[in-house]
Amino acid sequence: MARGLTKSYGDVQALRGADIDVAAGQITALLGRNGAGKTTMISIIAGLLRPDAGTVELDGIDVLSNLDEAAKLTGIAPQDTGVYGVLTVRENLEFFANLAGVERGSRATAATDVAEQLGLTELLDRRAAKLSGGEQRRLHTGCALVHRPQLLMLDEPTVGADVATRAQLIASVRAMANEGAAVIYTTHYLNEVEALDADIVIIDHGEVLARGTRDELVEAHRLSGLEFTLDAALDAATIDGLGLTATDLTANGGATYRTSDDRSIGALIADLGPRSEGLLAVESLRPDLETVFLAVTGDRLDEGGG
Ligand code: ATP
Repeated sequence: MARGLTKSYGDVQALRGADIDVAAGQITALLGRNGAGKTTMISIIAGLLRPDAGTVELDGIDVLSNLDEAAKLTGIAPQDTGVYGVLTVRENLEFFANLAGVERGSRATAATDVAEQLGLTELLDRRAAKLSGGEQRRLHTGCALVHRPQLLMLDEPTVGADVATRAQLIASVRAMANEGAAVIYTTHYLNEVEALDADIVIIDHGEVLARGTRDELVEAHRLSGLEFTLDAALDAATIDGLGLTATDLTANGGATYRTSDDRSIGALIADLGPRSEGLLAVESLRPDLETVFLAVTGDRLDEGGG
């Protein structure tokens, strides 16, 4: 869908030829550290920002040269909430429906439907300025999806939201995907990625470094091994000789180490010899999304990219 996206802001190269694909009914979580280029990417796809190079095509339409058409097909909720405080919840929703080309006769229903979906029905006639922060977040998201776009983009929609609002937003996003929308969702909360059952694209320094389902990425970056803590630190020659990596020091003079092979706990104890009497904890490394994310973006740091 988007190919070769490149964008610089002065000296800062925010995107360096990034590609992303979406499919109807699929949620794509766009993950990356602060400044990775996520907001720049979705702003370009939504037609809000011109890239220096690259193409965006949606449903056979060249988004960058058909912005009016694209506005009907896409919906974006940027990071900062952008609802109109003097307008009521209903008026905000109808206003954004109008902007996205929803016909006059359908706007009222579109507004009440989305209010229902986001738990805002009771608040339809309240001015947005008088909503709580979480309610404003929900309205902000509602304004992006009131015209039922084919492609919905949400930029960190749950920042500052309480547990209930977060759950409601996630349920709405899932519902949109179940209705057939493609969704691009940026977040720093990896548990949301699991809750959304999203495909994952990891971006760093404006480049896509990894993509796949959660299980594919975990499998590809499987970190086997044991992590153990000793009550006293080992010397460098021992660490090297036993094929270990030191990962942390503990407060009382001990240290934590990792093996990076498939050694069993028994073999580790044998290798440590009498030092194994100082073992405080041993656990198998279980790769999760966070491990994968750190491995993908950390590799990049090790290569001098960060
Ligand atoms: P975050 O997780 O912090 O929201 P992000 O992945 O969304 O980050 P972007 O906002 O796309 O990252 O920023 C990518 C890079 O471009 C960063 O280095 C940022 O400082 C820079 N940048 C973004 N917008 C501008 C701008 N308007 N002017 C100058 N530099 C910018």
